[in-house]
Amino acid sequence: MTIDERIARVKELIQKREEIDAELAGRFGLSPRVKKTALCTKCEGEGHNAKTYDAPEPQEPQVISE
Ligand SMILES: [Zn+2]
Repeated sequence: MTIDERIARVKELIQKREEIDAELAGRFGLSPRVKKTALCTKCEGEGHNAKTYDAPEPQEPQVISE
């Protein structure tokens, strides 16, 4: 197998994977454009990133009763 053939094979596999991802996303009602949820670098939360980060509301300290 030549290098070109390997590259072609890899591209073929990636293409198939993207098609599968798109179908899976469709079945889950997600937009195929959203490939992966990026985690916020500040709090590692999903659905936003550091630029759109909103500080979570301060939680009241929990009183742990014995
Ligand atoms: Zn965050």
